[in-house]
Amino acid sequence: MKIIMLGAPGAGKGTQAIRIAAEYQIPHISTGDIFRSNIKNGTELGKKARAYMDQGLLVPDELTVDLVMDRLDQDDAKKGYILDGFPRTIPQAKALEKALQERGDKLDYAIDIEVPDENIVDRMSGRRACTGCGATYHIKFQPSAKGALCEICGEPLSIREDDLPETVQKRLDVYHSQTQPLIDFYKERDILRSVDGTKHVDEVFADISAILEA
Ligand code: ADP
Ligand code: ADP
Ligand code: ZN
Repeated sequence: MKIIMLGAPGAGKGTQAIRIAAEYQIPHISTGDIFRSNIKNGTELGKKARAYMDQGLLVPDELTVDLVMDRLDQDDAKKGYILDGFPRTIPQAKALEKALQERGDKLDYAIDIEVPDENIVDRMSGRRACTGCGATYHIKFQPSAKGALCEICGEPLSIREDDLPETVQKRLDVYHSQTQPLIDFYKERDILRSVDGTKHVDEVFADISAILEA
């Protein structure tokens, strides 16, 4: 199963991708997570990416596409994967399509999680991320059973720097201008499936599972 997740920042892509990855035993590949781990480790890529991320802008395609292609060529991605946060621009989508075609391969589904902008601000202001394992929580909607610590690894939770309200609006603008056109791109290829992301996390997951099992 080869799946990509579409949706605004905060729509719940990561939350659902983790569940799908566990259910189907495929790797969850998140470009945001890859960039954040590079920032944490102080790599050259991390330094470059951070300058864009902190402003709510996209990291340039040149820095993003090769990174993803290398990841997709690793052994664990042979049987499938769930891509979360990539592609995010038409050039990225075209590069992915071309690379897959060269390998005689294609995507099965593009799952679009629909959440109106009004709800996004609440999602982002309450999002907390584990500083250890990257797990995501929400102070209201998905609180950690251990309060300010991660349920899974026990490390403290923190607010992502790009989740500050000023940056969230910028990221939403960037989403509408650069990423939303992908919805039509995948509709034309007949692999777009949309789900209502305002429902409870479990219901959204059930809706996605129904699509994947159809
Ligand atoms: P969210 O989960 O809120 O949608 P991500 O963790 O996916 O955010 O991404 C965080 C930031 O990382 C983005 O705002 C962008 O700066 C950068 N980024 C992630 N994926 C990509 C991509 N495919 N192309 C360009 N930039 C990206
Ligand atoms: P994305 O990867 O699309 O940026 P996340 O999966 O990180 O989104 O979710 C953004 C925030 O919203 C997180 O704090 C998460 O706990 C919360 N969240 C995710 N799905 C739902 C949902 N269906 N209802 C309410 N809150 C949700
Ligand atoms: Zn953790």
